[in-house]
Amino acid sequence: MIICDTHCDVLYTRVFHPEETPVVTPENMKKGGISLQTCTLFAGAGGVEKHPYEAGMREYREFERLVKEEGWQQVFSPLDARDGEVREMLSMEGGEILEGRVDRVDEFYQYGVRMIALTWNRENEIGHPAKSGSQEGIKRAGWEILKRMAELNIAADTSHLNEAGFWDLIHHHSQPPMASHSCVRSICDHFRNLRDDQIRAMIDCGGWIGINFYPAFLSNDGVADAKLICDHIDYICQMGGEKHVGFGSDFDGIEMTPSDVRTPAEVPNIISELRRRGYSENAIADIAGLNFIEYYRRLGWKQQ
Ligand SMILES: [Zn+2]
Repeated sequence: MIICDTHCDVLYTRVFHPEETPVVTPENMKKGGISLQTCTLFAGAGGVEKHPYEAGMREYREFERLVKEEGWQQVFSPLDARDGEVREMLSMEGGEILEGRVDRVDEFYQYGVRMIALTWNRENEIGHPAKSGSQEGIKRAGWEILKRMAELNIAADTSHLNEAGFWDLIHHHSQPPMASHSCVRSICDHFRNLRDDQIRAMIDCGGWIGINFYPAFLSNDGVADAKLICDHIDYICQMGGEKHVGFGSDFDGIEMTPSDVRTPAEVPNIISELRRRGYSENAIADIAGLNFIEYYRRLGWKQQ
């Protein structure tokens, strides 16, 4: 079975918090049967004034080193995920890394970035975060960047983006957006989660949602396990989204984890819970990874 995880902060942790032990390791990914681990270049919490490009580049250099020296296997397309292999793909979290420059979209495309979360929790040149409560949509410079992203078939990731920006993408972007690491707001009322009408729009436009494993986004009391992750998956499936949902763990970016999904090695506990709930093997394979790959086909990616 191909298992894809669309968000983790292992590169940021390795570069900026070397005192912490990352859980996203080749050993844990192999144990958990992860085929495709998306590793994000995170702008950092400092916003546009804190040289986010340099932060992103330091993380990219670390990724290059992992590929050259430690046997990590970079893929440049999600369609290159393979059952039985552990491979890694790059994404970006916080479009401020681009510092408003369209040519940087091309630069990071060359590095292998295939998904860009337009904002983190700070306003940037592209748009506004959900955290701010801003009613403003995507900025003019943001549309220039989004246009180039669409030409290169880079996914527009709405996790962290405000609602006005989200709806701008749904209505005006030429590609279906995705949410790499967000949950269901009807189950857990957090600004980082998606409302029912947003989930509905994602399903209708051919988008994709990766359920975040962070307990604070999974439950109102901040306590979570594999069952609760499956409650969020169930909810989206019951809305007709069984082809539009998967996993976006946020490992190494969260200080708490579900009690029985603490590392990539324990992702199979979610698969077991889906089986226990009566999901067919085909449906489980879709949720575990194929939906994510299919989403990239809709963006225009083809098997080489
Ligand atoms: Zn995040």
